[in-house]
Amino acid sequence: MSYSERVNQLFISQVSEWDLARVNYEQLENVRTRIIGFGTFDLTVQFNPGRITSSAAKVDSRSIEARPCFLCAKNRPLQQQGLPFGKGWTMLVNPFPIFDRHLTIVADQHTDQRILDSFRIMLSLARELPDYVIFYNGPQCGASAPDHLHFQAGNKGFLPVEKDFAGKLNCSLISRKGDISLWQWKNYMRGMITFEGTNPDDLALSFEEFYSRFRLIQADRPEPMLNILTSFSSGTFTVHIIPRKLHRPSQFFAGDDKKIILSPASVDMGGVVITPREEDFVKITAEDISDIFGQVCLSDEELSPLIKNLP
Ligand SMILES: [Zn+2]
Repeated sequence: MSYSERVNQLFISQVSEWDLARVNYEQLENVRTRIIGFGTFDLTVQFNPGRITSSAAKVDSRSIEARPCFLCAKNRPLQQQGLPFGKGWTMLVNPFPIFDRHLTIVADQHTDQRILDSFRIMLSLARELPDYVIFYNGPQCGASAPDHLHFQAGNKGFLPVEKDFAGKLNCSLISRKGDISLWQWKNYMRGMITFEGTNPDDLALSFEEFYSRFRLIQADRPEPMLNILTSFSSGTFTVHIIPRKLHRPSQFFAGDDKKIILSPASVDMGGVVITPREEDFVKITAEDISDIFGQVCLSDEELSPLIKNLP
């Protein structure tokens, strides 16, 4: 049985035996969405009350230290079963789904959320789970457990960025070296680049080069702020990188009628904007989203110097 088939089996057994997961996946069928058009691309807004814990999670170090880590094996619900992945990782069904199939892949050790030494793991996950997009939220970019290394995965065919990359209306090839192609996105409201390639070693080198450049301008951060979405198809990896400059937008902290609980992470950057509160789902406008993305992402102009002569 392939690894992918074993994951499907895990999923089926978890939603039949674990009440929390079953109820939350059933409720996903009733989730409300709105499509907001921006000319050459669309975004989906999803009203998903189950995500409030994650979106509003307190991720300051004092709050993190005060709570039991929900990704550590000793604190996980008894019903939550895991499937080992490689050496030192465990695949879990995410009980608070955004996707029809939503996984969390956690390191077996309680260690900080950092991408540099785990980028190749992300590529391995993409290769072993070809029906999924694998995503990484940096410790200040939407991860609700910044103290415990993890990735997530959601079924393909859900995030608009997949279709947008296939259509190429908002991105163009800016360089190609050996196996690696680099694409830059324009007028997409979020400065974004995409590496494509077949060789994990070459991809890792390109990623590390970008990472080290970006780290120079965010030297005070635990790591340069990143969301990453990776997938694998027909032998080729696709790695979307969305550098960030802010964790949460001003609307998150605003009072009363100006408040919007939106804590952008990889899924939002991939084109599905998650609003856990109904009032935000109803009132959020294209202008709000454009403003929020502008606050938390680099502009096309800010990103350009970072990718000069890459890969
Ligand atoms: Zn932990």
